[in-house]
Amino acid sequence: MSEQTRVGNDDLLHSYSENLLGVYGMPQTVLVRGEGCRVWDADGREYLDLLAGIAVNALGHAHPELVSALTQQAATLGHVSNFFASPAQISAAETLNQILPVHGKVLFVNSGTEANEAALKVARAHRSGGRIVALRNAFHGRTLGSLSVTWKPAYREPFEPLIPGVDFIEATTAALTQAMSEDVAAVIVEPIQGEAGVIDLPTDFLKRARQLADHYGALLILDEVQTGIGRTGDWFGFSASGIIPDVVTMAKGLGGGFPVGAMALLTPAAQQALDTGMHGTTFGGNPLAGAMVQATLKTILKEGLLDHARLLGAAWSDELIQLPQVSSVSGRGLLLGVHLAPGISAKAVSKAMFEHGIIVNAPTEQVLRLAPPLIINKTECDQFTRALSVWEVN
Ligand SMILES: *Cc1c(COP(=O)(O)O)cnc(C)c1O
Repeated sequence: MSEQTRVGNDDLLHSYSENLLGVYGMPQTVLVRGEGCRVWDADGREYLDLLAGIAVNALGHAHPELVSALTQQAATLGHVSNFFASPAQISAAETLNQILPVHGKVLFVNSGTEANEAALKVARAHRSGGRIVALRNAFHGRTLGSLSVTWKPAYREPFEPLIPGVDFIEATTAALTQAMSEDVAAVIVEPIQGEAGVIDLPTDFLKRARQLADHYGALLILDEVQTGIGRTGDWFGFSASGIIPDVVTMAKGLGGGFPVGAMALLTPAAQQALDTGMHGTTFGGNPLAGAMVQATLKTILKEGLLDHARLLGAAWSDELIQLPQVSSVSGRGLLLGVHLAPGISAKAVSKAMFEHGIIVNAPTEQVLRLAPPLIINKTECDQFTRALSVWEVN
């Protein structure tokens, strides 16, 4: 069918179901355009985007700095393979090192799950045959390695046997203390469990994890795929804890919408694990990705979006918690879990919000996740708060 004869969502979704694999179910709509925190569908309906492509579009849609970085790079040099370096890749790694708590070594990959795959290989190379300690409710990705440290049985079970030697524990310092020993290669943790419903770690969990990993010579891997790159109002979810992890994985917000991930190795133990030839990927950190990483990080700095995300997120959370529809709010900065009062279905609210022109998502039956572009303003936040405040409470 030619573009001219496509009239709208119905035609496009019909073709979607004919041509695309159904792993995502039927999409809610077909989005054709975006600007700032707004997107428009093929029928011309406007939406306020409070999901940002699942915590990806840190600078919103069609940010001029990103448009110019990508088009300039595409017109100069698009891809070279890792047989060659490019200034864009090198500058992106330098910029990433400026936001990390210590100078590290960076490997660029193409997604969150790939960043975690790389981290798991670092762990196994660091301590051959070692166990991996992961948390209940963890989500680290859908490829077989990352899936092995992902908790949700529905995601895991059809693909078993997965990688052996993974122990899932409760996210408590007591459980962690008990799980650790000399045969643990790594502990892998999300600073806030995003997919599980924006679950905060207990205070001091990361500090204790650092101590225990040091004591047993294990690596501490922090999965910052969702929490990193300013999402929580700091560069990283672990920033406030003051610890230095061995390995940090990133993706979602890193390229401002361009598919790119990264693994940063911050300690000598982690940096020594992989020798030349032990890992790699064709696209990893190509010039286009490099240009987008650099533009995203620089723009977050230039526009003061860390402070903005921290302050606006805190104020929004304070307002939401006042609503009778809300029982608690978890998360930090602009990654918030709105836990609804008993009897209110998050899936039903999310569906009604969509019909009302607001995109949010319900990672669980009780929780709405807010992960808007970091450039969102107070008026846009208020639009959601108002819409939720009129939901009927029994
Ligand atoms: C989304 C996510 C991943 C997986 O990233 P993909 O790019 O979808 O592979 C891994 N870890 C966390 C914490 C995530 O939120």
